[in-house]
Amino acid sequence: MTVEDILAGKAVPALPKGHFIDGEVVAGFEASSMESFDPGRAEAFASFTNGSAEDVGRAVASARTAFETWRKTPAAERGAILQAAAGLIRGNAERLAVVECLDCGKPLNEALADVRGAARSFEYYAGASDKLQGDTFPLPHGYLGYSLYEPIGVTAHIIPWNFPISTAARGIAPALAAGCSVVAKPAEQTPFTALLLAELLVEAGLPPGVCNVVTGTGMDVGAPLVTQSGVDQVTFTGSVETGKHVMRSAADNVTRLVLELGGKSPVVVLDDCDEERALDGVLGAIFENAGQVCSAGSRLVIERGIHDRFVEKLIGRTKTLTMGHGLRDPQLGPVNSAAHLERIAGFVDRARERGAEILTGGSVTVDPETGKGWFFEPTIVADRPSHDELVQEEVFGPVLTIQIAEDAEDAVALANDCQYGLVAGIYTSNISSALEMARDVDAGQIYVNEYFAGGIEVPFGGNKRSGFGREKGLEGLRSYCKLKSVAVRVES
Ligand code: NAD
Repeated sequence: MTVEDILAGKAVPALPKGHFIDGEVVAGFEASSMESFDPGRAEAFASFTNGSAEDVGRAVASARTAFETWRKTPAAERGAILQAAAGLIRGNAERLAVVECLDCGKPLNEALADVRGAARSFEYYAGASDKLQGDTFPLPHGYLGYSLYEPIGVTAHIIPWNFPISTAARGIAPALAAGCSVVAKPAEQTPFTALLLAELLVEAGLPPGVCNVVTGTGMDVGAPLVTQSGVDQVTFTGSVETGKHVMRSAADNVTRLVLELGGKSPVVVLDDCDEERALDGVLGAIFENAGQVCSAGSRLVIERGIHDRFVEKLIGRTKTLTMGHGLRDPQLGPVNSAAHLERIAGFVDRARERGAEILTGGSVTVDPETGKGWFFEPTIVADRPSHDELVQEEVFGPVLTIQIAEDAEDAVALANDCQYGLVAGIYTSNISSALEMARDVDAGQIYVNEYFAGGIEVPFGGNKRSGFGREKGLEGLRSYCKLKSVAVRVES
């Protein structure tokens, strides 16, 4: 099957039809289906099942039963299955990347990087599963005190559409490594790679029921999943508004939560930076996945001394970015849906009405080759004050807002004057400035001289309205554990 065949609508990759429950693809309780759209063509390319509360109940019951055996499976054996899954993900990387590209719109190379990232999550937690060890406590003579990390139980994973397979993997891999069982709900815009991942896990030796996937909308599947009494923890990745709703619903059963929400992350560029490196960094930070990245660097906080020269070069580089269907691997792909395109355009139109200067881009467009698709031009907006909507609100598109700082101290103040606190980038050649800023900027993670530096080894999560709890790293493994303390009087 060639890219040309797929783009001409003559071929579609083989896709599972149904949910994945108890180790197999099953039909939904109700005969309800939805279409999935290829954003690069703005056309439906496949259909999938829209689940119901009954499907969720079935998946949770299956996960509950499977948990009792999985949690007792030796940790090294769990690790071996995760390692085998990583191998299968790598072996199927191209197929998975093509599906991700069609479902989500992102350029093929970015989709391939996401699939490899998903494999890395399974490799990392495969190695970590038998290294989850507790502490001993220095109690008085005659006593023994120690702690145990126990799996939380059944964990629900609610996944957004912007990084479908990598977000699924970064939650499912540590949950399984810790001995939890899983019910995952991918976004209704991008249902397929989570289903394919669950199939590969079973092929790798995961017992039926340990990882289940129910597809469908937030209302029909996500909401009942959060309120199920059989679910012990919800890892929710998505918008602040839905996150607040999930938090309220989870309160009914006092269900544990990890909330990975939005961001409006600053990239701080100081006068003394390596300019070429900073230019690459700023471009990648905002235009990767057409800006639909929770940790996108959507605010350029730049020192006045370098502003004019840097922004001129930035505009020049932005104008050369190639756009097109994700399968043709351009530098910038489409945005995920017509509704999302309209939302992005709304932000830019309102900024224009407030008198903002659009330095480049600013309009809805199409794939120059086919005249189709949901595209937005890569856009840069000149200096805006801190209270501006474009500084405070997540656009989740290829729109960069500039803020001018008088010095490093002012840059920190501007970086922090925002309701979000997910990540921050810093470009400077002065190590002291970098470390002081890394200390003073309120964000869950800081990148110095390379935006998006790090990998699965580095814990990730938000401060302020970006959420709470941590994924990735050993911290991510502990997010799927309950800590039990034991104190024993040893003397009889
Ligand atoms: P969204 O909140 O609309 O949807 C996210 C998921 O929640 C989807 O699977 C959706 O079906 C489900 N959902 C919707 N309503 C629900 C409900 N009432 N109960 C339970 N589940 C429900 O978000 P989105 O538009 O898909 O994703 C974009 C958002 O996700 C952005 O704000 C982005 O910043 C954020 N995000 C955060 C991270 C992170 O790690 N912090 C990563 C990726 C995306």
